Amino acid sequence: MKKSSNLASSKIVSSKKASSKVAPVNPAQTKLQQASIKWDEQGQPKSEEFDDFYFNTDSGIDESRFVYINPSNLQQRWQQHSGSFTLLETGFGTGLNFITTWLEWREFQRNNSEQVSNHLHFISIEKFPLNKDQLTQALGLFPQLKHLSDQLIAEYPLLVKGFHSLQFKDQNLTLTLIFDDVSSALPQLNGPIDAWYLDGFSPAKNPDMWTEDLYSSMAQLSREHTSLATFTAAGDVRRGLSAAGFKLNKVPGFGVKREMMHGTFMQSQGPLLNKFDHIKPWLSPEKQTIKHIAIIGAGIAGCTTAYALARRGIKVTIIDQHGIATEASGNPQGAMYAKLAAGEATHSNIYIQGYLQSLRWLKQQLKPGDGWDNCGLIQLASSEKEVKRQQKFIENTDYPDQLLHSLSQEQASAISGLTMNCGGLFFPDAGWVSPQRLCQQLLKHPLIKLEQKSITKVAKSGDQWQLITDKNEAQQDKVYSHVIIACANQSQKLLPDCYLPTKSIRGQLTYLSDNNKSDIKLKTVLCGKGYIAPANNGSFCLGASYNIKDDETEMRLSDHQKNLEYLEDFGQEFQQLHQELKQQEPQSFPGRTGFRCTTPDYLPIAGPILDEKVFDQEFTAIRKNLARYPRQKASFLSGLYANIGHGSRGLTSAPLCAELIASYICGENFPLAKDHAEALLPGRFYIREMVRNKR
Ligand code: SAM
Repeated sequence: MKKSSNLASSKIVSSKKASSKVAPVNPAQTKLQQASIKWDEQGQPKSEEFDDFYFNTDSGIDESRFVYINPSNLQQRWQQHSGSFTLLETGFGTGLNFITTWLEWREFQRNNSEQVSNHLHFISIEKFPLNKDQLTQALGLFPQLKHLSDQLIAEYPLLVKGFHSLQFKDQNLTLTLIFDDVSSALPQLNGPIDAWYLDGFSPAKNPDMWTEDLYSSMAQLSREHTSLATFTAAGDVRRGLSAAGFKLNKVPGFGVKREMMHGTFMQSQGPLLNKFDHIKPWLSPEKQTIKHIAIIGAGIAGCTTAYALARRGIKVTIIDQHGIATEASGNPQGAMYAKLAAGEATHSNIYIQGYLQSLRWLKQQLKPGDGWDNCGLIQLASSEKEVKRQQKFIENTDYPDQLLHSLSQEQASAISGLTMNCGGLFFPDAGWVSPQRLCQQLLKHPLIKLEQKSITKVAKSGDQWQLITDKNEAQQDKVYSHVIIACANQSQKLLPDCYLPTKSIRGQLTYLSDNNKSDIKLKTVLCGKGYIAPANNGSFCLGASYNIKDDETEMRLSDHQKNLEYLEDFGQEFQQLHQELKQQEPQSFPGRTGFRCTTPDYLPIAGPILDEKVFDQEFTAIRKNLARYPRQKASFLSGLYANIGHGSRGLTSAPLCAELIASYICGENFPLAKDHAEALLPGRFYIREMVRNKR
């Protein structure tokens, strides 16, 4: 590991001035080449890149069963497995292998109502993804799979490079689609993998994929008895896999194919692997047996975390002194989009992935019009600086228009319904959300219980945790194996021994009554220095002020006046309104105040909490060189997690962070790249201080 890892580069990351020096977004990082398909006379898809068919043209379903499902012995292994079973496929293609495996999973669940194995995680990597139309056409060849392929098509993500974690109505099935090259994607997984489907066109047609690096990454991610199934029996592949530790059998292939292989990983037969070479110790807390889980804080971070666990079948108690989403998450209309940093790849990637994840959650949780409106959002280019920033971002990235694209002034006017003075960046699927409505909906899950009380301390009790309330009482009979701190600016008080340098920033909203302004027909959310959302319940929500080192909870007239200044960015109709209001005596408005919880590097804090005292001693070597970390597990305050520091972007980042925390707790593969999980780690600030020799 070089000194340029996310942790080590913190000096640069945390310095705004120098941020353009770190991993800038570049077109290669976001560029994704879509599949180029020729359809033959029978309507069968053939890849133009590889000059080969995606599946057997006589019987794709039978082939999938014969080559992948049956040799992997899934039914029997699922019976014996508990927890999450992870299957990884190289080459998602049309998704046919995924759907046939899904059918198998449903059959297993039907026959095993007591359900020993509770979650199937299917990860598939695809370098040249099909678009939705191609996918629909290809899967249309299998009408008998329509009940499942329709669900896949509905959830199929935009063609954006990186991880996409999809959930289906079958609550215990996750599909993580990674649009990337296998060689870049595998090192970004944390593992373990229980079964491999090695697909991806023949080694003769696709030699770039079938490499020593592939086999060694597979070995790093496998555990004893991980299975492998592949259509090929090529000698180089067999030798490569054997050398990496897989015991292989050659068996007759499907149809005209003479031979294929399946096998299992035998750790002892491969080279001696140091598992910490691929997973950094601060990303791998020891898995704790799940007994009772408490989440402190029922804002967007806490509620999404509760739901991510509950949908995995885990009971959760969520505790908040004031009830559901009453603090920063209590804003009636939060803007939901990804504010992207032109010069920093990690931030943009995390927020784009978070944004896409949030959109999927919203679609599953709320109907448009009921607490959210996907009316689109324009990030206005209302200053010279912002014009340049947006230009740089568009030049340096390659995203589909449905994710975001530039608008001219005329286009911005047509879309917003107002007379705009500038164009901007448009997010067609974005809009506003009532965080409170979303939180209420999430907490309806029957496995989630809400308790209203004030927690003042989290205390260790044996290998579990006790919560002390403001009445200084701890119920002796109530201990928790896991506690997730999700109470924003109050979190540091609950974790006095942890270095979590969050900052509270006050924000005041102004509600402008819609009365007499019915001529202002705003159709999208507008973001400039502040933001305004289309009228809802008779008023426009305008905000939010930005007050550092300010803990005043009461609203202030001066902040309403400042918010009104934002109207100058929002087109001529709002400018005129501002001028009219300025002529009048200063008046107060309805509104509310809240406190954002921000971090020095503008990324949320999501993950397990380091035991800093022990870490400090055991990992002292990183003070000299971060690459010299000892190959041993880092010590964590076991079972203790944080999901905080979302600033004003919680709607975009909280669902993804919630899935990340649930995956840590359940020992699953992360829903995002390992580098991104590292960038969100609560202990990163402490580790940075150690590397800088400040501790
Ligand atoms: N499993 C697929 C299905 O069920 O439809 C069929 C897969 S098709 C035979 C092989 C796939 O591997 C193609 O979609 C191709 O784009 C993909 N592929 C080839 N090389 C790759 C690489 N290096 N990284 C990721 N995907 C790759």
